[in-house]
Amino acid sequence: MVLIVNLDKKNHVLVTGGAGFVGSHLCERLVTEDYKVICLDNFSTGSQGNLVNLISDNNFQMVEGDVTNETLLRKLCKNVDIVFHLAAQGHVEVGRKDVHRTIDTNVTGTFNVLEAVRAESVTRMIHASSSEVYGSAEFVPMNESHPLNAPHAYGVSKVAADRACFSYRQSYGMNVEILRFFNIFGPRQDSGQYGAVIPMFTKAVSNGISPIINGDGSQSRDYIYIDDSIDAYLTVLKSNKPLVMPLNFCTGIDVTIAEIATEIIKRLGKEDKISPSFSKPRIGEVDRLIGDKSTAIDLLGWKAKYLFTEGLDLYLDWYCALDKSHSE
Ligand code: NAD
Repeated sequence: MVLIVNLDKKNHVLVTGGAGFVGSHLCERLVTEDYKVICLDNFSTGSQGNLVNLISDNNFQMVEGDVTNETLLRKLCKNVDIVFHLAAQGHVEVGRKDVHRTIDTNVTGTFNVLEAVRAESVTRMIHASSSEVYGSAEFVPMNESHPLNAPHAYGVSKVAADRACFSYRQSYGMNVEILRFFNIFGPRQDSGQYGAVIPMFTKAVSNGISPIINGDGSQSRDYIYIDDSIDAYLTVLKSNKPLVMPLNFCTGIDVTIAEIATEIIKRLGKEDKISPSFSKPRIGEVDRLIGDKSTAIDLLGWKAKYLFTEGLDLYLDWYCALDKSHSE
């Protein structure tokens, strides 16, 4: 790895987890906006394939490494003005099976990033939090004051990471901002065994297989299309009002898992052939997440542009085009 120390760090950013679903879209957008991007990723769920549009760009550098390596983070932070921290073990089921990896990455990793940011006097850190910190809705819409009742290791690790970020803001006066995203979906999201619902259902249905719903399908989530979430990052980045408290990014509308299955089956034209099948509920799965979007609107003027079905159509277009190119 060749790293040249920049004396002028302005517009130089580090994106941890930049080879993942959200991170790769964020890196692309930042490069488009003339930022010089270093991406740190251990490729546990991310891939080089997600970065094909960037790999030969002079304003992009890929570093393979781990957020558990504080020495590496310190080296990288010498060169940047802003850190976007997205690297995480982000799957609820994997969190249950591999608690230690989840804690090492999401908690120790976040402390390591904070320490590196502090030690190297990085101007700003923007942390990817999750609505999974809240647990099932005690009231809707869920605002930022909703209790943090995460019922699983992933959610608990994100609570700890949020509190770590907050504590560094309090203790050291660091500019650490916490963006609490509800469920993001879009192109490049993992459709594998531990993938997300929309890509997994899409893959199943397009292969003529029934999507499997855990539980009765009435559990619901607030889905934001990927472009809206990247716009949220850019809105925060360009805002001259630093966020002092975690901020929800959501649409304020929830969609049930059963509705998602039905919409995908309908849109892929498989209504006559396929219907969802049902399996036992997942232990500790959150029933309902529906966010309150009003603080993001009031503070930043940020609002999701895409309805769920609009985002779904864009995602399915992308998926079908990719599927077709693989079969040619
Ligand atoms: P993802 O799994 O696609 O991306 C995570 C990236 O981090 C991957 O590229 C992975 O290889 C990398 N990574 C994992 N462990 C690492 C480690 N120890 N060191 C370095 N890199 C490591 O997931 P995503 O959906 O893109 O999520 C990105 C971030 O956004 C996560 O912090 C997640 O908690 C948060 N988030 C995601 C959603 C969503 O719906 N996708 C919603 C809310 C919050």
